[in-house]
Amino acid sequence: MTFRDILGHDRVLERLRRSLAIGRVAHAYLFVGPEGVGKATVARAFAAALTCPEEPGEGCGGCPSCRRLKAATHPDAHVVEPDGQEVKIEQVRGLQKALAYRPSMARCAVAILPQAERLTLQAANALLKTLEEPPGETVLVLVAPTASLLPPTVVSRCELVSFTPLPQEELASFLASRRGLTPEAAELTAALAAGRVGLALDSEVGDLKALRERAWQYLTSAAEGPGSVLAWSKHGLEEMRRGRSSLKAAGLELNTALLSLARDVVVTAAGQPDRLIHVDLAEQYASLPAGGQPAAAQAVFEAVQAGRAQLDRNLNTQLVYETMGLAIAEANRGRT
Ligand SMILES: [Zn+2]
Repeated sequence: MTFRDILGHDRVLERLRRSLAIGRVAHAYLFVGPEGVGKATVARAFAAALTCPEEPGEGCGGCPSCRRLKAATHPDAHVVEPDGQEVKIEQVRGLQKALAYRPSMARCAVAILPQAERLTLQAANALLKTLEEPPGETVLVLVAPTASLLPPTVVSRCELVSFTPLPQEELASFLASRRGLTPEAAELTAALAAGRVGLALDSEVGDLKALRERAWQYLTSAAEGPGSVLAWSKHGLEEMRRGRSSLKAAGLELNTALLSLARDVVVTAAGQPDRLIHVDLAEQYASLPAGGQPAAAQAVFEAVQAGRAQLDRNLNTQLVYETMGLAIAEANRGRT
């Protein structure tokens, strides 16, 4: 994985390439952005750019150094994944021990924490020392959904790099060529993945259709009223949890699908059917009360966005869905 293999994220890549070219790479970065958008992939490409002797500052992808990086056997690249649910203090101490030695193969050592939001407070505090006085030639890359999930003391010692989702059309045409999807399947996948490349590449079209169906059920149960949506938030989410790592993972996935549907409700209420993401749902959108009222549609969309922010802040998933559902129910009854 090198910079050249990355789809999109032009602004981020330009910034990283420039700092590599002028030799002003920061000692610590914090990559933030929605899950599945490509942060960890860019972090790995950045590691190649930092360590590749063949094409320094870019990464060639084929030299022994790049190959070892790909195989996760590079002696100077350290990836610290959570041990169970958390990144523990022992893991941070282990990393610090490894970083105390001079790089053996590359000009510098790289450490990536792909889920830095899972650092325990103890582990984060232990890491502060490394962030303040990184040993010799070391670059740390912390990756997290948002900066607010990390202690401010950690955030303030990192250079922040924000990732945004890809435009839907760009993702759809990439999926059509890379995964060989039909244009319809590529568009549906891109819409449901909401510009997150990783999610779009890892998801099956059938699974995404089922996900969209669930999101639609949730939306209509909320339009029916508080009782229906409270019931759905209990049973629907619980059903979704099966086959997923956690209730939170289910909640995040569902929220992504909901965002694209809620956006379509806004477009429907504004009378712009040509801008729909899910064109085949046009009639169903119009059947929702909010589908005919711009202010109500906007309130539905904002409720889903607020739900996303709460999930990112690790609030209880079921509670988030209940609160969001009640707000959507109110919006559909014209009480906003
Ligand atoms: Zn190389």
